[in-house]
Amino acid sequence: MTNPADSASPAALPETFRALLLTKNGDAVSADLTDVPTAELPAGEVTVRVQASDLNYKDGLAILGKLGIRTYPMVPGIDFAGTVLESSDARYQTGDNVTLTGWGVGERFWGGYAELARVKADWLVKTPERFSAAEAMAVGTAGLTAMLCVMALEDAGLTPDQGGDVLVTGAAGGVGSVAVSLLSARGYRVTAATGRVESEGDYLRGLGASDVIHRDELSALKKPLEKERWTAAIDVAGGATLAGVLSSTRYGGHVAACGLADSAGLTASVLPFILRNVTLHGVDSVQCPAPQRQRAWDRLAAELPETLLKDGVQTARLEDLPRLAGEILAGQVRGRTVIDLS
Ligand code: NDP
Repeated sequence: MTNPADSASPAALPETFRALLLTKNGDAVSADLTDVPTAELPAGEVTVRVQASDLNYKDGLAILGKLGIRTYPMVPGIDFAGTVLESSDARYQTGDNVTLTGWGVGERFWGGYAELARVKADWLVKTPERFSAAEAMAVGTAGLTAMLCVMALEDAGLTPDQGGDVLVTGAAGGVGSVAVSLLSARGYRVTAATGRVESEGDYLRGLGASDVIHRDELSALKKPLEKERWTAAIDVAGGATLAGVLSSTRYGGHVAACGLADSAGLTASVLPFILRNVTLHGVDSVQCPAPQRQRAWDRLAAELPETLLKDGVQTARLEDLPRLAGEILAGQVRGRTVIDLS
């Protein structure tokens, strides 16, 4: 098969492209490397030669048939970065470097685990000049979400000079590791909560965490109000972890919640909200409005420490994804995983 990036003319699109394709047979979902006819690409204004995607928790769910995808066959991969091959939208020209996160790609629309993708122009951002496609995906949805959490806290008034600790849960995972890195680079004192203190403690201190605690310390907190410890928090876990975070956040503190790695349930008391004036901010990168998304990417390009792009990023190929899907759902993946499609 010719590499579609070799030529930008529409006629140069290959007849087929390689993709990880999810199909459903009865209740069983299978993920297979497949040569997909290019004619089957969905409608959209921009066709992209995908150079990199990445691995997110949601991708693990999709590959293992646990995401509730309604339409099969599906190309999973909730984000990608690559180069425009064809565009009918004036904002994008052939050869532009673009990045897509969210909007339901990989869930409702074909996503990034493929050499070609065709999407709506509104869903794209120009890849910041600082990042190659692989680096944009080392940031990816996890990095965007981490930045959206930081922005939610700072838009609510958080500043590094307020003192105290900002807690990050799921710290050794994708969102958590970027959050630790971004916050410490901005001068916050960060406590990282992880279930892997022994194996990942040094990694988290290397990203800038001042303290590393075991996540069980949080989920074990059962009283409605516990000792006040955190000025603010970013939580990727939900469930008993988030309940413990809320009960131990200081008066007037802000908590940005974006995930459910522990549980989608929440058994918190209302007392942190009433008696401690704690505010809970929900963060969603999927539907986040375009201006906010652009602001987050601009800040990531300006603020993301170079160490994050170098340390804790592993590179894998499409064929590794079925194995990696199990590992990310088991909480065994460190930091970020880039899928190389170049
Ligand atoms: P990862 O798997 O990379 O990280 C999740 C981390 O959570 C794990 O590494 C682990 O970290 C921790 N964890 C795992 N199980 C538990 C548990 N039972 N209790 C507490 N902590 C646990 O996933 P991501 O970082 O990509 O995503 C994290 C969460 O955020 C997911 O729920 C995901 O769906 C959600 N998310 C939401 C987005 C949004 O837009 N709202 C966007 C991206 C992700 P450790 O070992 O350090 O404890």
